Amino acid sequence: MVLTETGPAHDAGPLIAVERPTPSPGEGEILLAVSACGVCRTDLQLVEGDLAARRLPIVPGHQIVGRVEAVGPGVHDWAEGERAGATWLAETCGRCVRCRSGRENLCVDARFTGWDVDGGFAEYCVVRADVAARIPDSFGDLDAAPLLCGGVIGFRALRLSGVQPGQRLGLYGFGASALCAIQIARHWDCRVFVCTRSERERERARRLGAVWVGGYDDEPPEPLDAAITFAPVGEVVVSALSALDRGGTVAINAIHLDRVPSFPYEALWWERSIRSIANVTRADVRDFLRLAADIPVVTQFETLRLEAANAALRRLRDGDIDGAAVLIPEPE
Ligand SMILES: [Zn+2]
Ligand SMILES: [Zn+2]
Repeated sequence: MVLTETGPAHDAGPLIAVERPTPSPGEGEILLAVSACGVCRTDLQLVEGDLAARRLPIVPGHQIVGRVEAVGPGVHDWAEGERAGATWLAETCGRCVRCRSGRENLCVDARFTGWDVDGGFAEYCVVRADVAARIPDSFGDLDAAPLLCGGVIGFRALRLSGVQPGQRLGLYGFGASALCAIQIARHWDCRVFVCTRSERERERARRLGAVWVGGYDDEPPEPLDAAITFAPVGEVVVSALSALDRGGTVAINAIHLDRVPSFPYEALWWERSIRSIANVTRADVRDFLRLAADIPVVTQFETLRLEAANAALRRLRDGDIDGAAVLIPEPE
C-alpha cells in the first residue's frame, strides 16, 4: 500500500495498492515476509501530510512483525525462518557523538521506517539486520505488532518523564501507546490518572487500574509527579503542565503537534519541565520487550486486511479504533 500523494485518509485513499517484485536484501539487510503491521498515528500524520513526507512514493508502516525470508550478504545473526520485528528506527550512522553515547534516537543521519525507507504496509519488506528486534516467544505476531512503536515509545516516555515507582502519573490521551504505558506504570505501583474525551477509553482506563479518569480540562484530584501527553494537541500539554506538582515533568509523546499555546510562567515555575520524546533506540526496544514479556503487557487490537489500510487510517483519525489497528496481508 503505497503513498504517492498525501491527502485526507478515506476508505479508498490516498494509499494505493500496487504490485511490486519482491525486494531482495542488500548488504547487512534481511527480507521479511510480513505477518502483521501495526498502524500508528505517525502513519496517519504522514499520509495526511501533517508530517512532511521525506520521500514519495513510500510504503508506510513501522510496527512490523515477520519471518526472515532471505538474508543479505554480511548478515550472520539472523537465519531464514526466524521471527523478527522492525520498528520506527531504520538506520543510524553509528559514528556520531549521539550514536556513541546511547542517544542514537537523536542521530542527525538516522533514517526511519515508512518515512525514509519502505515500511510494513506490504507483504514483504527489507530491514537492516542490526536494527531488527527479537520478539519474546510469549507474544503472538498480532499481539507483538502494537508493542513495536506505541509500546516502545510509551516506555521511553515513561522513563524520560522521570516517574518513579509509587508516584502519581498522568496520562493525557488513552490510545494504543497509553494502553501499554499504564500497564508498565501499574507494574511500578504508580497511581495513574487518565484524561481522555472518550467514554470507552475512560472505562478501559478504569479497568486497567487508573485511580481517576476525566477529561483534558478536568484537574486531577492530586498534583502529578509526571505526565505524558499522547493527544497531538498543544492545549493538552498546557493542561498536563497545570496538573503537575513542583519539580514534575510533562513528556510529549508526539512527533507532530499543532502548536504549544502560550501560558503563564507560574505554570512552569518551581522547576517543572516540558520535554519532547523523539524516536527510540535499540536499547529501548530490547528493554521494553523484555519488561513487556515479564509483566506481561496485554495489547488490545483490531485486525484489518492489508488492503484496508486506508480505512484503518481513517478510523484511527476518527477515534473509531478499539486499541490498535493491525494490518495482516492475505496469506498467498
Ligand atoms: Zn549517528
Ligand atoms: Zn509509530
